[in-house]
Amino acid sequence: MTEKSLNIELATPNKKIEIGLASSCSAPGVLGKFQILPGHTAFISELEVGEIKVELPEKTEYYAVSGGFLEVVQDRVLLLLESAESAQDIDIERAQQAIDRAKDLLDRRKDSGDIDVDVVRAEAALARATNRLQVARRNSI
Ligand code: ATP
Repeated sequence: MTEKSLNIELATPNKKIEIGLASSCSAPGVLGKFQILPGHTAFISELEVGEIKVELPEKTEYYAVSGGFLEVVQDRVLLLLESAESAQDIDIERAQQAIDRAKDLLDRRKDSGDIDVDVVRAEAALARATNRLQVARRNSI
């Protein structure tokens, strides 16, 4: 490849993926979604639950991520993430079950005032699972 590219690497507590050379990378920053192109100035951002989109020479790849950090230095993009699944690796049934569980807990709190329900935790689980379903749908577009 003669044009400039980004070299993208992704790491979670249990896996490391060399995504390779890409022409762009979009990520869910805590202050909003942003895009990195080759030649970007050195930069670091915290990420929230959302989608990473990577433009590779032959295809576009999508990953569901649950927060972390993105660092860019001299066209090297390092993603340090709490969890990450590529769109085709997402277990849709598992994500749907996580949504149902989180919604049940939130309903229990709302309808019967169950104070044992950790609302922040249930809402975070709901956000992760809803995001996984959205990213998994990218595969069928
Ligand atoms: P669950 O309640 O289903 O475990 P979770 O949101 O609590 O969901 P995490 O703690 O974010 O799960 O992730 C734990 C591990 O399971 C990570 O390695 C993550 O990539 C993987 N994972 C979680 N949900 C899915 C899914 N629907 N499909 C594929 N991998 C998943």
